[in-house]
Amino acid sequence: MAFLERSTKNTENRYWYPEENTFPVSNRYTTGVAGQRFFGELKDNARITGTRCHSCQVTFVPARMFCERCFARLDDWLDVGSEGTVFSYTVAYVNRDGSAKPEPAIIAAVRVADGILVHRLLGCNAGEVTIGMKVQAVFRPEAERTGSILDISHFRPV
Ligand SMILES: [Zn+2]
Repeated sequence: MAFLERSTKNTENRYWYPEENTFPVSNRYTTGVAGQRFFGELKDNARITGTRCHSCQVTFVPARMFCERCFARLDDWLDVGSEGTVFSYTVAYVNRDGSAKPEPAIIAAVRVADGILVHRLLGCNAGEVTIGMKVQAVFRPEAERTGSILDISHFRPV
C-alpha cells in the first residue's frame, strides 16, 4: 500500500481476530495532510513542493503544515524546482545483510530550498562528490510513480 492510499475499512483496524491471532493493519505510516499533498505532487506532477513561512523567511522541504520556528500555519505552497546542493553524503560499500555491494552507493543529503531530502546520488564516483555540488532530481516515469520519495529515482550532478 502506497502512502497515498487510505484504509477503506477502518473497522478492520480495531479488531483482534483471536482465532487467527491477527490484528490486521493495512497502514503502517501516515504522511499527514502536508505529506499527502507533497507526495501527491511527486506522483502526479513530478514536482518537489515546499511551504513558505514569510515571518521566518524559510521554505520547508518536504512541505509542512506549520512552521517549526513560529508555529504559524503554512498555506503558501511552492514548486521549489528539482535542483539542490549536496549538504552531506556517505558512501555505502555493504548491503544491509552485510554482503558487499557490487558498486559503492552514494547516499546524499540534498539541500532543496531550506530543507533536506536524503536520496541516492548516481552519475558520479564517490571521489567526485563535493559538499555544495549542484544536483538535480531524476523522476521515475509517470506510470511507475506511486506517491513515495522513490518517485524520485535518484539525484544526479547538474
Ligand atoms: Zn515561521
